[in-house]
Amino acid sequence: MISRSELQKIGQLRDPNGQLLSLYLPLFQESSNVDYNIELKNLLRSANQRYVDSTGTSLPEGFDALFEDLRVYVRDNAGKYGRGIALFASPEYGILRTLAMPGSVESSAIVAENPNLAPLIRLLEDNQPYCLCVVSRDQARLFLGHVDEIEEIEQVRDEEVPGQHDQGGWSQARFERHIEDHVHRHFKNVANRLFELLDEQRFEILILGGPEEVVAGFEDGLHPYVRERLIGSVRLLLEANVNQAREQALSVIAQNVRSRKQEAIQRVVSEAGARDLGVEGLTETMAALQRGQILNLVVDSQVHSSGINCPDCGGLSLTPDQDNTCPYCQSANVQDIENIVPRLITTAFEQGASVYVIDDEEQKADVSRIGGIGALLRFRVDEQTA
Ligand SMILES: [Zn+2]
Repeated sequence: MISRSELQKIGQLRDPNGQLLSLYLPLFQESSNVDYNIELKNLLRSANQRYVDSTGTSLPEGFDALFEDLRVYVRDNAGKYGRGIALFASPEYGILRTLAMPGSVESSAIVAENPNLAPLIRLLEDNQPYCLCVVSRDQARLFLGHVDEIEEIEQVRDEEVPGQHDQGGWSQARFERHIEDHVHRHFKNVANRLFELLDEQRFEILILGGPEEVVAGFEDGLHPYVRERLIGSVRLLLEANVNQAREQALSVIAQNVRSRKQEAIQRVVSEAGARDLGVEGLTETMAALQRGQILNLVVDSQVHSSGINCPDCGGLSLTPDQDNTCPYCQSANVQDIENIVPRLITTAFEQGASVYVIDDEEQKADVSRIGGIGALLRFRVDEQTA
């Protein structure tokens, strides 16, 4: 499971020679004996072309041996990596880090000083690990899920809830109170379990399932930390099978992701429009990135632009200064980058920003009003002092 802290750790990988390879390869588990050689060769070729474009020289010879290692590694281990593999390696250090991609990924290979985390960031932001808790007055089922994997981790049952035949000599009122005590204790028990799971970082978002009135009663007793993770509830029966559980959970999550993105877009559009805590378009967004101002980055998945990278100060810019120098430190050492957007996404994430990559056609239309990209800022910089 990919976590923010894990990604930040990968973000610190560096190759002193500027030869860190970030490779993403989709895998096809359902068909056996897929040969990934051709795809890997194509990726090597495109990585080399990008490297030539940016540095003027071909990838060093060490990459041939590295790619042979990768070929063997993928051949022998593809089965362990779900729907795709993310791999970071360099000729000097070999394979540094591999990760399973739980969701679909586009193949890409980039060689640079820093890792390209953009595809992982996107997956992380759209797929937080979730807990689905289906609850009744005397039972509960707990599921943990991530992307399209789901697992039932436990069932909780209050064995002592009295049935109607237990009423015996009790008055109706007293008997009902007795049952309510049991229900209350059962809810508390399940709520505590959810708190433990949250504390163990087993989920980020919570979905409740069950009859409306039961869910409402249960929700009231949740720990505030757990309740703030709640994104919605579904009318799921306790007898539901795991596929129904997953389907319902994923539909709540998809809606939640969509509305979070919508809110982020609207906030950027209005703040940028008011020239307040927002910027729009690539030029302004790059400037905000350079100042470490970005809180939320909103970007159409298809936005694409060349740019430059300065290995001396780490600066990113759309264009160099007039004499082909770095606009920030005036170094003459600048490198061309075919597409600067993955760098922008990675750097914004490393600065602690939330990244919203927009795929939905309607939302893309909204983002097009700000030139396909924009950001909500942490703080404002007055034009005069910037
Ligand atoms: Zn520089």
